[in-house]
Amino acid sequence: MVQSAVLGFPRMGVNRDLKKATEAYWAGNLSQADLLAEAKRLRLAHWKIQKDAGVDIIPSNDFALYDQVLSHIQDFGAVPERYSSAGLDRVDEYFAMGRGHQKGGVDVPSLEMVKWFDSNYHYVKPTLQDNQTFKLTATPKAVAEFTEAKEAGVATRPVLVGPVSFLHLGKADRGQKVDPIDLLDKLVPVYEELLSKLKEAGAETVQIDEPVLVLDLPSKTKAAFKPTYEKLASLGDKIPKLVFTTYFGDIVHNIDLVPKDIYAVHVDLVRNPEQLETVASSLGSKTILSAGVVDGRNIWKTNLKRAIETVESAVQKLGKDRVIAATSSSLLHTPHTLASEKKLDAEIADWFAFASEKAVEIAIIAKAVTEGPAAVREALEANAKSVQARATSERTNDAAVKERQSKIQASDYNRKSEFPSRIAQQQKKLNLPLFPTTTIGSFPQTKEIRIQRAKFTKKEITEAQYDKFIEQEIDMNVKIQDELDLDVYVHGEPERNDMVQYFGERLKGYAFTTHAWVQSYGSRCVRPPIIVGDISRPAPMTVKESKYAASVSKKPMKGMLTGPVTCLRWSFPRDDVHQSVQAEQLALALRDEVVDLEKAGIDVIQVDEPALREGLPLRSGKEREAYLDWAVKAFRLSTVGVEDSTQIHSHFCYSEFQDFFHAIAALDADVLSIENSKSDAKLLGVFVEEAYPRHIGPGVYDIHSPRVPSEQEIKDRIEEMLQYLKPEQLWIDPDCGLKTRQWKETKEALVNMVNAAKYFRAKY
Ligand code: GLN
Ligand code: ZN
Repeated sequence: MVQSAVLGFPRMGVNRDLKKATEAYWAGNLSQADLLAEAKRLRLAHWKIQKDAGVDIIPSNDFALYDQVLSHIQDFGAVPERYSSAGLDRVDEYFAMGRGHQKGGVDVPSLEMVKWFDSNYHYVKPTLQDNQTFKLTATPKAVAEFTEAKEAGVATRPVLVGPVSFLHLGKADRGQKVDPIDLLDKLVPVYEELLSKLKEAGAETVQIDEPVLVLDLPSKTKAAFKPTYEKLASLGDKIPKLVFTTYFGDIVHNIDLVPKDIYAVHVDLVRNPEQLETVASSLGSKTILSAGVVDGRNIWKTNLKRAIETVESAVQKLGKDRVIAATSSSLLHTPHTLASEKKLDAEIADWFAFASEKAVEIAIIAKAVTEGPAAVREALEANAKSVQARATSERTNDAAVKERQSKIQASDYNRKSEFPSRIAQQQKKLNLPLFPTTTIGSFPQTKEIRIQRAKFTKKEITEAQYDKFIEQEIDMNVKIQDELDLDVYVHGEPERNDMVQYFGERLKGYAFTTHAWVQSYGSRCVRPPIIVGDISRPAPMTVKESKYAASVSKKPMKGMLTGPVTCLRWSFPRDDVHQSVQAEQLALALRDEVVDLEKAGIDVIQVDEPALREGLPLRSGKEREAYLDWAVKAFRLSTVGVEDSTQIHSHFCYSEFQDFFHAIAALDADVLSIENSKSDAKLLGVFVEEAYPRHIGPGVYDIHSPRVPSEQEIKDRIEEMLQYLKPEQLWIDPDCGLKTRQWKETKEALVNMVNAAKYFRAKY
């Protein structure tokens, strides 16, 4: 029989319950015992959903209070000394690594957090020492959660991040030289012990995630697979059977690295259906293929007929007992349930499946293959109807949009003049000092803002009342920036719930949800809008607020937009039209907004593209170049409609540009602000090597943590930056927007930042 499997389930709960509990705990309003009890309640609820859906193989240890990689760091005894010696209990040590800790005499910043492959989920980077050792904790989470499920009557398959991926995704701690992969011999014994314990606890199989297999790997990492999995294989029955799991790409280029006689191999057949052939024919003679056919990364209903055909073609090659039908990846990247969406247009709602519905889908697929389609006829018929309805709906097509796209010309991608001429004209207008200071856009989204927004959404206050409130917030933000003596102001984005959702709600072609939250990092969730059809802008989206802000400000006010690629990447995209087409439609809509802002007297306009990098196809080569080509074009199309004297900024939440610097340079933005505070300033070297002529503001402090950086720390950071950048190129700003912070720490940090900038201004 073909079994169904889910690779991981979202953790937040139907009402973002986990977010609420962790944040209450951090604020001191919930006890640790209550937090852990809530976490347990959620795990049990999520297992039950999957069980009730009829899923055969249900994951455990896919849960995490903050991040699953961080849980491994702690359980493997890979906690850097600055946290382990802080005298914190286990839970607080865990959160200290995730988000920093500045309380009770302990002051540690968080570990670096980066994107999980090309998703919008962030994991905490294993941060390793030259003399790193590993030691399995006495109470491994994987064992505890497996046992917890078992006691609740649910047999689960624990999920682990595999040893090669764990190390490959890690890095040497600051000042350390170790190449993480060299630590493999020390790490594998921890897995041996953990796997043995899981076996003792009753686990028959374990999902061991080695997603790095989809990447282009350095030879050392490649060489790590064989000895690792041979070692584990040598333990035979002492450990559970291993399901070697990959996702988000194809593994054909690394097929030789797949352990030959491993129990099962999982591949993502949503992203790369064509790999089925090669993978199936290279498996060991008994190895099971886990076919990922239900998309873990998007919200569209699975085309069940097609998915069943895929699984059946695997069955033809391998036989029914050697195929599992699975989700393509963890469902972590999808919202909890469609059942919460009471406001979605019924026509559109019929096109979607969220995590809970996908669990049902995968069970149906397995059943159809095992027992024949008749066993699930009704479900298949309903599904075929939905798929057909979407394909032929009027909602997806807009002739006017297509017409405009067909008329784009080469000149629509270029500014009027080159940068030297532009910057001179801009400087004349803006009159900025050396080391100009600015922030990235958002200011703290206070409780009051959320209350008023909720009232407005529920129609408890009028639009006029809400607008008035937003104006007052902008007034306050301007006043605070006056006091801080910043140079280029922002209005603070109080009117925006989220940098993509806000635009999605104002663009035609989008659908938006009320509860479809997806975890981004830690307790932070986003609610990606959904691109359902051709996109256009019915009316200006941000002009009112920016214009007002400029009118009450005596310094330049930056307009603030989310770029086309980021709008696309942080939405759930269509799967029926190429992403480049969707990006171009977004770019045209944003271009009109940029021009309207300029007309309204906004002289500095920032178009954020933090998602540009995560959209990079995971492997280098043709596909990546094609992506960069359309992504850069989309950005340019959206920004170049302005006069030379209007300054275009862009922002990126990272500074690792080495792989695609040519694309960053090709954006032709006058000023780039980038995340840099937790990365090595050396990364800025690429700007020197490439003789990058334009302005750059590498973030001088981390905004993901409430910790306040001292003035000296910031000065040191700027000093480092000046080893790479010319003083006249350098802007001083934080790593990213400040919406997740409190005002107190925000002001304190910005005072220190402005003072540091002034120090250098006096010096140069
Ligand atoms: N302008 C946005 C903000 O400040 C940018 C956020 C981001 O880069 N993620 O919040
Ligand atoms: Zn950012």
